[in-house]
Amino acid sequence: MQYISTRGRVEAKGFIDTVLMGLADDGGLMVPAEIPVVAEATLQKWKTLSYEELFLEIFSLYINDEIPIEELRQLVSRSYSSFRTPEVTPVHQLNDSLYILELFHGPTFAFKDVALQFMGEFYSYISKKQNKIIHILGATSGDTGAAAIQGVRGKEGIKICILHPHQKVSKVQELQMTTVDDENVLNLSVKGNFDDCQRVIKELFADLDFKGKYHLRAINSINFVRILAQTVYYFYAYLQINKGDQLPKINFCVPSGNFGNIFSGYLAKRMGLPVNKLIIATNENNILERFVKTGEYKPGEFKSTHSPSMDIQVASNFERYLYYFLGEDTAKVSAYMQDLQQNGKITVSQEDLAKVQQDFAAYGASNEQCLEVIEEYKKTYDYLLDPHTACGIAACKAQASEGEVTVTFATAHPAKFDEAIRLVGITQQFPPQIEHLFTLPQHQKVVEHDKAEIVRELEAFYKL
Ligand SMILES: *Cc1c(COP(=O)(O)O)cnc(C)c1O
Repeated sequence: MQYISTRGRVEAKGFIDTVLMGLADDGGLMVPAEIPVVAEATLQKWKTLSYEELFLEIFSLYINDEIPIEELRQLVSRSYSSFRTPEVTPVHQLNDSLYILELFHGPTFAFKDVALQFMGEFYSYISKKQNKIIHILGATSGDTGAAAIQGVRGKEGIKICILHPHQKVSKVQELQMTTVDDENVLNLSVKGNFDDCQRVIKELFADLDFKGKYHLRAINSINFVRILAQTVYYFYAYLQINKGDQLPKINFCVPSGNFGNIFSGYLAKRMGLPVNKLIIATNENNILERFVKTGEYKPGEFKSTHSPSMDIQVASNFERYLYYFLGEDTAKVSAYMQDLQQNGKITVSQEDLAKVQQDFAAYGASNEQCLEVIEEYKKTYDYLLDPHTACGIAACKAQASEGEVTVTFATAHPAKFDEAIRLVGITQQFPPQIEHLFTLPQHQKVVEHDKAEIVRELEAFYKL
């Protein structure tokens, strides 16, 4: 399997080089040259596999023979040994038509752990095997940073620097990042919002001299390995629910921000997973909802909501979808992306909009709805949703039809977002791992939203 850029100006690469490159050198995103299709008979066989075995099957379709299978097995086993359940992502049934896929059983209690625990092991493996320095640089709205830091803390040959928006992440997210005292970790708390942080990161990665000189590696979901790791639980959830001989279609409803998680679902569908609707759930930062409803992709005004990990206006992975939607035409993708940069928006034709609406449904939950859903589900099912998952449930209610079965993703544990839970008047008991964080000292540096200052901090850190 070869990988190419959505903008068509990068030589085809293998899997390892694709992961190391992160953002494509031409500013695009890396995608597989061809999506492998899984036959129905193979899906039937996969029904009895454990999570880790399923992971190996799916990755084997994508990594050629670049990592010997026994070594890959060890990486996978180490990655998921840090989860609190051997199922990794257990399915919880609420009623006949609604299942919750719990993606928060990893070390930092959010779905990012599923891909980033593996990515940490993967980078460590490459660093040793190829004798490469790995300097991870990333921006976070809270959960990616925490998960990435947990994935590589204390690992030899790797340094990690994470930018987060100053005082715009939840208390628990901040503690998860800043209480880590390993020397290979630097937290920069940037006076700005997430989009500001991400813009600086994108500029630094686009500066190929800087990227090369400092061996920069990405952990954001622009990295294809994250997308691929996330397809595993779409298959796993599906196979857990459909144990019988039939393979009926089901809906997936995914709380979305950067379009990474839901894009993994799109990939799974293209691989042959019987998916009915892919429902994009957002909060009041609803660029994706507006796109699916009107065909106009246009960043709006940034809003702070109860679900801060989805407070995103520019959805990085959107370009991957654009690529497939435009019939894998890299010249067209480049033109659309240039349009976005110059005119601040992309508009697709009515005919194309109909295609988008075949691929996705979308709904943006208001702050009020989010809290109402948390209260309702606590009362009805005695199940406490985190505010991101609550946006997912609101979207599921709006977009799933009678008779359809939907799996809504629980992207975080409610303890991470106690600020919202308290607003509903619910007092929750924190898991001991989170309780413990409040007793630890914090390590972070507050910086202006200024590229030059951030570069100075980075250079000092890399020279250590
Ligand atoms: C990151 C995150 C999201 C958004 O996921 P994307 O892949 O960026 O769309 C949703 N919920 C939670 C809790 C998250 O951490």
